[in-house]
Amino acid sequence: MSNPGPVDPWARLRAEFYLPPDQIYLDGNSLGLLSRRAEQKLLQATADWRRLGVDGWTEAKPAWLDWTERVAAQLAPLLGAAPDEVAVTGQTTVNLHQLLATLYDPAAPRRTILADPLNFASDLHALQSHLSLRGLDPAIHLKLAPTRDGMTLRTEDLVAAMTPEVQLALFPAVLFASGQLLDLEKLTRAAHERGILIGFDCSHSIGAVAHDFGRIAPDFACWCHYKYLNAGPGAIGGLYLNRRHFHRPPGLAGWWGVRADRRFAMHAAHEPAAGAAGLHIGTPSMLALAPLAGSLELIAEAGGVAALRARSLALTHALRAEIERELSPHGFTVVTPRPDSEHGGHLALAHPDAWRICQALKAAGVVPDFRPPNLIRLAPAPLCNTEDECREAVFRLRTIMLERRPESFPPSAQPAP
Ligand SMILES: *Cc1c(COP(=O)(O)O)cnc(C)c1O
Repeated sequence: MSNPGPVDPWARLRAEFYLPPDQIYLDGNSLGLLSRRAEQKLLQATADWRRLGVDGWTEAKPAWLDWTERVAAQLAPLLGAAPDEVAVTGQTTVNLHQLLATLYDPAAPRRTILADPLNFASDLHALQSHLSLRGLDPAIHLKLAPTRDGMTLRTEDLVAAMTPEVQLALFPAVLFASGQLLDLEKLTRAAHERGILIGFDCSHSIGAVAHDFGRIAPDFACWCHYKYLNAGPGAIGGLYLNRRHFHRPPGLAGWWGVRADRRFAMHAAHEPAAGAAGLHIGTPSMLALAPLAGSLELIAEAGGVAALRARSLALTHALRAEIERELSPHGFTVVTPRPDSEHGGHLALAHPDAWRICQALKAAGVVPDFRPPNLIRLAPAPLCNTEDECREAVFRLRTIMLERRPESFPPSAQPAP
């Protein structure tokens, strides 16, 4: 593989990462890789803990007490949001529960929640259990908009599903399987015209797509940081609450959501912090937060999320061009929509033998990701993959198809999804 040379700023960023030896890692949308910067922040946090004990809350640099607020301010540009609309807390699913508890009113005349069948299962679990908890039957009150092909969603179908009984809608910004990027602006406008609250799960978009929530102004969003944000397995999550909802008390209250200057007063009455910070529940994990702070430094050095998106597009373009040139005779279909405005950071290839091909690809030193029943996801991470790697991955995939017809791949059991 050619060396892009030290003048390439992306090469410098790539050098920050621990790349698995002898592997082309294209699974950064499942678990992003560790960077030296993220590691350094984590080691710093443990060193501060070792040295300072409880005083780390005030004496660590930065002090742990308001570290989540500092990181939220660094993160906000990735969403195009104001810093006080973002909280760094919890996990995706927990944050969704918190946002539902805060925004959804089970006593309103219109109480249906609208979602789609292609969202990550955890989001649907949260919606269903939330409805049950509020005494409503998810079989009646959770409505799933249709998908025509089982892979993608059409804006017009989602809008048509925004019927008068719908109170709140949740969609993924980027679909985890097909990689489709939804038209958040059109969906938000349509929802608001119909008096519907709308939110997005940005787990598969943050760090690969530049969001502009200041302009689009959805009601809420949640996401994780262990995919394109490279903050580590089980990293702290994020949520966005549009400021039009700041007057609402947190649905799930806890002391970390209390105003910072009153938190240690230990009053039984909950005095929420201003903005999204009021949605914190318990003590955030500094060890799960530290690597995120490192990742955000790297993103700032890369030129911010617009530069990241441009890089991501360059990589997915190179990948798609190579796939179309080399793989069409071998029964692959790219199910990810083609226009830039309609895809996130990964490409999904459909093939009837996807599972066995993924195994063979891994044996050939390329780490893809299999999604049942027939998808191979290839996710070049803007901070650490190269166009050469995209081309090389496709070359190895083609070699597999040429040398070993899929029928002859060793049979192996599929993992439990
Ligand atoms: C990755 C992902 C999740 C994961 O949820 P956690 O609570 O962070 O484990 C949830 N929803 C979507 C859409 C995802 O892509």
